Formats: sequence, C-alpha cells, structure tokens
Amino acid sequence: MDNPEKPATLERPDTPETASRPETQATPEAEQKAGLYDRFVELSRDIFAAGQDKGREAMEKAMERAREQMTAAGEFTSDQGETFKRYMRRDLEQTREEMRQFGESAKETLHPARLGAGALSSLSKIMKAAGHALAELSSKAESALEYESGEVTMAGTLTCLACGEKVQLRHTAVVPECPKCGGTRFRKSY
Ligand SMILES: [Zn+2]
Repeated sequence: MDNPEKPATLERPDTPETASRPETQATPEAEQKAGLYDRFVELSRDIFAAGQDKGREAMEKAMERAREQMTAAGEFTSDQGETFKRYMRRDLEQTREEMRQFGESAKETLHPARLGAGALSSLSKIMKAAGHALAELSSKAESALEYESGEVTMAGTLTCLACGEKVQLRHTAVVPECPKCGGTRFRKSY
C-alpha cells in the first residue's frame, strides 16, 4: 500500500533487489507501529543532535530520553519503548556494518538527500553527525544481525534465512513473514 507521506526511498536500479516482490500489505496495527517507530527514531535523533557528545553513550541517553518523553505523552508503554530502543540499536548497528563493508557506495545510498521521511532518514542524519564516534558503536560486529517477523525496522531489503527470498521494505515497516516459504527470520541490507 502506498503511503503518500512516505515516498519510496531506496533506488538502486543496478542491483537485482529491485526485481524482488513488493512488500505484503500492512495491517493498520502494523502501520501504526511503524509510524511510532519513525517518531521515536526522529525524536532520538533530535535529542542526539542537540547534545555535544556524539558517541555511543550520548546515543543511548538520547534514546532513553525519547522513550521517557513518548511514554509520558502516552504514545507507547515503557516496555514498548524499551523494545524500540532495541530495534534502533540494531538498525544503527546494521547500517554501521554495511557502511563499513561497502564504504562510499553505502554512504551514497544512505545520503540524507536521497532519503524521504521516516526512520531511515533520521538514522542517516545521525550517522552523518556522529561520524567516527558511532563507528565504534559496535560490540559484536562479527555476529550477523537477525530480524524476525513482527519486529519493526527501517526501509531496506530483507533476505529470508530459510529460502533466500528477498522482501523489499520501501519505508519503515513491521517485518512480514516470508511470502515464499513463511519463514520468520531475515538478514537485512540496503
Ligand atoms: Zn523464505
């Protein structure tokens, strides 16, 4: 389903990902969850941008303050906020890892000007502002990051760990089940 507020963002016409199936239709609950995650990441980003420190601890503090603010505003429960923090740490880590592996081409893909609204755009700005400080964010860069059905993540390409099917997320979304085999575990790339 097309959402006019969240334009398609990732274009890499020279890669086979563009030939993959469109994402499955999101339920209203899933759309709402994705929208909350977008707001959470954007608020974390604003708080992070306003601070002096740009390291991992500052990022943690920014996420915690965003969680507190949104919990106080009744947008989500404290527990949901903790879950969103976990999702955001993972998306940051996955993006950082991809930038490390692919260098300039990933930086180009993730350039804020190329991204529309949504969490991925906010995250890209964080990476740009933080530079080297966040590059040292990782404590477990060796282990592959997994995404499970029902979790929320930013735009990107999910690859089913069971059958290799690719599912493209054009904006922040709840991770679906694999449309081909019903698998629930994925790896992500841009
Ligand atoms: Zn599959």
